[in-house]
Amino acid sequence: MTRIRTVVLLSGGLDSTVLAGHLLAAGDDVHAVSFDYGQRHRRRELDAARDVAGYYGLTHDVVDLTALGALLGGSALTDPTIDVPHGHYADDTMRITVVPNRNAIMLMAAAGIAAARGFQRVATAVHAGDHAIYPDCRAEFIVAASECAEQATAGHGDVKIVAPFVCHDKTWIVRRGAELHAPFYRTWSCYEGDPHQALGRPPTHCGACGTCHERREAFTRAGVYDTTSYYQLTPAGRVQS
Ligand SMILES: [Zn+2]
Repeated sequence: MTRIRTVVLLSGGLDSTVLAGHLLAAGDDVHAVSFDYGQRHRRRELDAARDVAGYYGLTHDVVDLTALGALLGGSALTDPTIDVPHGHYADDTMRITVVPNRNAIMLMAAAGIAAARGFQRVATAVHAGDHAIYPDCRAEFIVAASECAEQATAGHGDVKIVAPFVCHDKTWIVRRGAELHAPFYRTWSCYEGDPHQALGRPPTHCGACGTCHERREAFTRAGVYDTTSYYQLTPAGRVQS
């Protein structure tokens, strides 16, 4: 049987790591692509992506989109003058973490890489918990993006875009990851980056930003032990050094 050849968008986060394991378990031939768009947590995130790709034995490209990312201001992820909001992932305050058109940019770049390398599809780990804030994580967008990629590569790969987790929440993903023995400890979620990385200390999540809240909550709800290290926060919500 011919194996499906899939390019996975591997951010280094929990969801895309479980997706890589999920695709490998299904028998796909998987190539990982990560993007450096100047996100403030890029050092920890891309280190995690390289680490996860190495763990799974995947070929891996890290695409430099820093010049483009610098033009996508107004988001707490790409503009260092805007603070990352603390609180729940679905709060309205999290809208400031939207990077305009980010997923379309990454998916279309990955579709081009897939077509060039003879891969049939691109997989992204967007999930149901992303829908409230991020328009480019919704099922309608994935359908439209797949149609766009397929038309753009017609006769040159006919690349489709798939999002196997789009109807599942992060709790489901953690359970699936536990089944697959996914290397959760190698993944990075926190939008803050890690101020102690420069000091050579082990990866530690802030525990207060939206994606940290979501990560903690998912492990708790899934009943899966969370090995993530979180900073101790002061009552004012600041990281204690
Ligand atoms: Zn955080």
